Amino acid sequence: MDHEIRAKAKPQAADSRELTRLRRQLLRWGAAHGRDLPWRRGRDAYRVWVSEIMLQQTTVVAVIPYFERFLARFPTLAALAAADEHDVLRLWEGLGYYSRARNVHAAARQVVRDHASVVPDDVATLQTLPGIGRYTAGAIASFAYDRRAPVVEANTLRVYMRLLALREPTDSTAARNAVWEFAERAVPLHSAGKFNEALMDLGATVCVPVSPRCNQCPVISCCEAFRKGVQTEIPLPKRRPEPTAVSQAMIAVRRGGRYLLRKSPPGERWHGLWEFLRVPLDDGSDSKNEKRKRHKQAQPAAARLEQAVTALCGLAVDSNADGFELRHTVTRFRISLLCLTARFRSGTPQGPAEYRWARPAEFANFAFSMPARKFADRLAANGSGE
Ligand code: SF4
Repeated sequence: MDHEIRAKAKPQAADSRELTRLRRQLLRWGAAHGRDLPWRRGRDAYRVWVSEIMLQQTTVVAVIPYFERFLARFPTLAALAAADEHDVLRLWEGLGYYSRARNVHAAARQVVRDHASVVPDDVATLQTLPGIGRYTAGAIASFAYDRRAPVVEANTLRVYMRLLALREPTDSTAARNAVWEFAERAVPLHSAGKFNEALMDLGATVCVPVSPRCNQCPVISCCEAFRKGVQTEIPLPKRRPEPTAVSQAMIAVRRGGRYLLRKSPPGERWHGLWEFLRVPLDDGSDSKNEKRKRHKQAQPAAARLEQAVTALCGLAVDSNADGFELRHTVTRFRISLLCLTARFRSGTPQGPAEYRWARPAEFANFAFSMPARKFADRLAANGSGE
């Protein structure tokens, strides 16, 4: 790789001088141009931690209102640890990737139990907590405690790759290893948190994915990609796997003015969140073309859906043939959900999941999966049923 060739060709003293220059220029720029974000007000480790977990796979703009609501409801680590998981998930609803919420809740309890309610300040101990990997541990240690720990996330990864002129996709193991190794050396002994923040801000506002604004860049003189004129080619596009199509039906079974809700048990997608009854529309073995064809077909046979409901929870229902389709993408799955209503005939819901009958006016009290919330909102807008 370019940076390895360069590292061999340049004496260590020159590298040190260049790193010193990089730190100085970045810290000066960060002091003047750093973003004012709610979790940066104060250096409380709990606030930093919650924000970093929320920011995984999610934009700053989307996170801000969730962060403020979450901190208003759980202002301290002790408050979060004492909370019911359902309340945590309810506040997380809509942010997606719900394992993050379950992990932060479990980790808060672990900190109370094993660390006297104090968030650890070293990377190794932080990584023993659920949901905290190398990046998040570095962020908490450096932002909250100013420990000398690097931070490599989407923005800083891109900046580092350009500084080093690494012509690789961002998911390349070789590139990530090279970046982590460089980041370990680049992060300063003092002001590590400020350095990491400035690097993240640079990636978010100047060294952006498309058309980096090199003429505004404080570290242009340290940038190998700019020297070579290849900054727009780095990083290389990822080799994305073909998404897996999943076809399911979500059935709202109505009894009087109430609908049956099911809480997804562990091991299922949307574990811990409430839904209506979700049953497969295919066995996952169809070819892609057959699946597309099925999406365009008329509604599946009511009898088949009624049998699927009985198999899921033991209820006998009369399915309504009219429904609408919701599309939802999560990780590598492209989910098509056919939303239908059905009328209760007989039986008592059974199985490993928890069930409740609820009126539409009560839906706001439940933490729903994103598609179930859309369906619930539509049912509530149509009135309370019978
Ligand atoms: Fe990014 Fe350009 Fe700055 Fe290099 S000079 S770090 S490519 S903005």
